[in-house]
Parts: sequence; structure tokens; C-alpha cells
Amino acid sequence: MKVVVIGAGIGGLTTALSLHAAGIECDVFESVAQIRPLGLGINLQPNAVRELIELGLGDALAEVGIATSTLAYYNKHGQKIWSEPRGIAAGYRWPQYAIHRGELQHILLDAVYARLGRDRVHLGHHLASLEQDDARVIARFVDRASGAPLDGHAADALVGADGVHSAVRRIFNPAEGLPVSSGRIMWRGALLAKPYLDGRTQVMIGYRDQRAVVYPMSEKQAPPGMQLINWLVVLGEQGLEHRREDWDLAVPKERFFPPFAHWNFPWIGLADMIEATQEIYEYPKADREPLAQWTHGRVTLLGDAAHPMRPIGSQAGTQAVVDARVLAQSLAESGGDARAGLQRYDDERRPLMNEVVLRNREYGPEIVMQMAEDRAPGGFTRIEDVIPRQELEEIARSFKVAAGFDPETLNNRCSYSVRTA
Ligand SMILES: Cc1cc2nc3c(=O)[nH]c(=O)nc-3n(C[C@H](O)[C@H](O)[C@H](O)COP(=O)(O)OP(=O)(O)OC[C@H]3O[C@@H](n4cnc5c(N)ncnc54)[C@H](O)[C@@H]3O)c2cc1C
Repeated sequence: MKVVVIGAGIGGLTTALSLHAAGIECDVFESVAQIRPLGLGINLQPNAVRELIELGLGDALAEVGIATSTLAYYNKHGQKIWSEPRGIAAGYRWPQYAIHRGELQHILLDAVYARLGRDRVHLGHHLASLEQDDARVIARFVDRASGAPLDGHAADALVGADGVHSAVRRIFNPAEGLPVSSGRIMWRGALLAKPYLDGRTQVMIGYRDQRAVVYPMSEKQAPPGMQLINWLVVLGEQGLEHRREDWDLAVPKERFFPPFAHWNFPWIGLADMIEATQEIYEYPKADREPLAQWTHGRVTLLGDAAHPMRPIGSQAGTQAVVDARVLAQSLAESGGDARAGLQRYDDERRPLMNEVVLRNREYGPEIVMQMAEDRAPGGFTRIEDVIPRQELEEIARSFKVAAGFDPETLNNRCSYSVRTA
């Protein structure tokens, strides 16, 4: 069986490695002519780390990422609402990593080059159209800069891993239009700074209309005693124009900074961090309506192309990795019937992911921050007087179950690895 993968992002490259490990031939086509280490931090939950370790990338991840020890939520006064251990400390058999997206992409790309061969990755190929019949699917490409047509490529199956503005998704859903805006915008940055707390904790501060997420994501290239720390902040509707979702849009901090100017707490100097950040990027929080179908004959969708979601609970990169592994297993076990394999993948992953997309509109586990704001806007002495511990525990647990990564389910489920003779 031959598969063509559209997009060399996190999902597309993991798909290529998973197909290769399952003994399936594949070629990857990427729109950009050069893969640069773009993006800032991304979180890989233990369910994704398991898959990457099973693909033989455990040492590379451990070298580059930060194994997150704790996730902690604080109110706008810097008081702790809830904290929980993560990764191994939470009872998983695999760690959770915070990592620079560009470094993760390069770990995956280097592995694809080493295992599949450099000639299997076709940069500068922007998918423009596709056609399929009973025997095959043909992908047609253009050079994105010049618009000049390039050679087409035929395969038994095509995987659209081409991100939030997916061309593959548009071909089957032409009336869908732009992503659905949440009305909120994220501003993101990273800087070298001294560690806060234990140097491995991800923190969420504030409430729905003014909040921050901060975590260390790399020590590899940092001077001794320093870390590369990722931060992002979100404000409620600002009446700012909605710009196209573009991960590289640099903006001045004046777009958002004043409400955060006093957010220096005894345990983290967030306002100082924002002021010291050289480049700040703006990204609208958006998603798309869940689809009733990802698979159309010999073509399917994966990662953000299939289920673009609001960035709640650090799920987008994680779920793209899991998609890739389920897809490869489904194709490998399809008895050579690519259409049946793609449909099995759709049946297994789409209902779960559609639920995560919708749940992320409800703020997932971060709802505890809004509850603290609603019930105690002036702060609290004891969080137990504001939100009972049992309620906090249940919120954290139910999100993990819904997103398929509670420790018990993950630790006990069979591997997606495919045995090849
Ligand atoms: C440049 C960039 C920076 C990002 N930075 C962050 C970040 O800092 N933090 C974070 O949480 N998430 C970030 N993301 C998103 C994150 O990578 C995804 O949410 C998640 O990893 C799922 O990955 P994916 O492979 O589905 O999509 P993506 O990682 O978005 O990859 C999609 C790929 O498809 C390619 N592509 C698009 N259209 C076509 C086409 N027509 N033909 C061929 N190729 C095409 C794109 O160039 C891209 O390489 C970023 C994405 C990109 C593209």
C-alpha cells in the first residue's frame, strides 16, 4: 500500500513515521520550501509521549523537552486554586513534556529523513486539488510562491494533515468558510529566565477574560541556571479585528499589556517576563465545527485539519500524534483495503475528537479558574471554602477521561504499534 501525506507538521511527520513502522510506504508533501523552527511551546501529554517513545524517539524528547511535574491553577491575585502532579508523578507510565514546537518538528523530520529517506519529503509542494477513483487517489500540487503546477502523485490513500486552513478539508467541505472565532485573542512569547517554582510546573493564572499560561519548555540552549520559558495570555473580547490564524504574526505588547502590568506575584514575575520578551505573537483563539465525516473514500483528515480546537488542556499536538498512530494501525490491519482502513480510523477517532472540540469551548479543566473568580473575586483564605476539593478533583478527572488520557485507561490499553513480520 502507498500513502501520500499532505503537510509536514507534527501530525503529518508522525503519520509518516507510524506508517513506516507499520511497513507502509509513504511520501510527505509540504507547502513551505524550507522547514524553519517556527512556533513556541507545545505540550505533549503522556498519551502522545507513549506513542513517540514507541516510535523510538524517547531519548530525543528527553534531551530537548522539559518533563512537566505539576499543573497548577491560580486566581488573579496569585493564590493557588488547584494543583496536580503530571506525567510519571501522576501515575502514568510515560512523562508529559513541554517542548519547543520547532524542535519537536525537527526531531520528527530528522527521524523521517533517517528512516524513510530524504527523497520521501517533498518540500515546496502545495496541495491544490485531488481526484480519486476505484483504483487510486491522485494529489495535484502547485509551487505556492509562483502558482506553477508541479507533478502529481498517485497513491492508495491520502491523509490531509495540512493544518487549520486545510485544503483537503475544504475540498470535501467547500461551504465551511473561515474558522469559528471565539472572540478572544492569545498573545504568546518566550524568553530566557530563571526558573520559577520547581522549574517544571505549568501554571494557569486568572479567569476566563484575563488569563495567562506559563511553562518552561527547554533548557538545552539556555545558560546555566536559566530556562526558555513560554508564556501566553488571553483577554476577553477586545473589539480587535479578527486576523487570519497565522502563527507568525508579530505584534507590539501594547496590544494587550496594561491589564497584566501588575501581575508580578511572589512566586512568578509574569509582568516582568512579558516586558523582557523580545518578540510577541498574536493568534486568534478559534476552532471549527465538528465534521460528520473525515474519511471520503481514499482520503481522510488528521490533526488540526480534522479537529482544529481551542487551545484548552494542551490537546492539539497530542491528539495529532495519537491520530497518526491509530491511522497507521487501521491501515496496516485493513487487509490491503485502504478505504476500509481509513473508515475504521474515522470511526475510532472522530467521535472522541468531536467531543474534545466541543468540550474545549466550555473551558475544560480551566473552568476552576472561572469558578474561583465568580465565587471569590476578591480572593480567599482557604480554597476549600470556595470550591470543595471533591469538585476540583472531579473536574480534573473527567477532562482526562473525555480526552482519553486518564492514567488507568492509558496505562492499560494495548499499544497501537503494529507487528511487522
Ligand atoms: C508555523 C506553525 C507554528 C505553530 N506554533 C505553535 C505553537 O507555538 N504552539 C502550539 O500549541 N501550536 C502551534 N502550532 C500548531 C500545532 O502545531 C498544531 O495545533 C498541532 O501540532 C497539530 O499539528 P498538525 O500537524 O495537525 O498541524 P500543523 O502543525 O499546523 O501542520 C500543518 C502543516 O501543513 C502544511 N500545509 C498547509 N497547507 C498545505 C497544503 N495545501 N499543502 C501542503 N502542505 C500544507 C503547513 O505548512 C504545516 O507544515 C503551530 C503550527 C504551525 C504551522
